[in-house]
Amino acid sequence: MSLADDLFEDAQEKSKPIPCKTGVWIAGLPDRDREAFDEFLNNGGPVSNLWRLAVKNGCASAETRFRAHCRKRCSCYNALEIAA
Ligand SMILES: [Zn+2]
Repeated sequence: MSLADDLFEDAQEKSKPIPCKTGVWIAGLPDRDREAFDEFLNNGGPVSNLWRLAVKNGCASAETRFRAHCRKRCSCYNALEIAA
């Protein structure tokens, strides 16, 4: 290991996004459900409906946090904002 390696690893650690509850829930969905989720949002479907159905399907996020995720304003996307 050299200083360069250490610095590189340190930077990698910090750039790792920490998924929010909604992000973790979505990551655990089967592909078909995840695609349907994205499609619903892309088609401009109401987030309130999406949240209600997400909770029914095991999502433990509060509606405000769920909305933040749908608007990409949650911890899942923080790393991208720092990099931009
Ligand atoms: Zn998120």
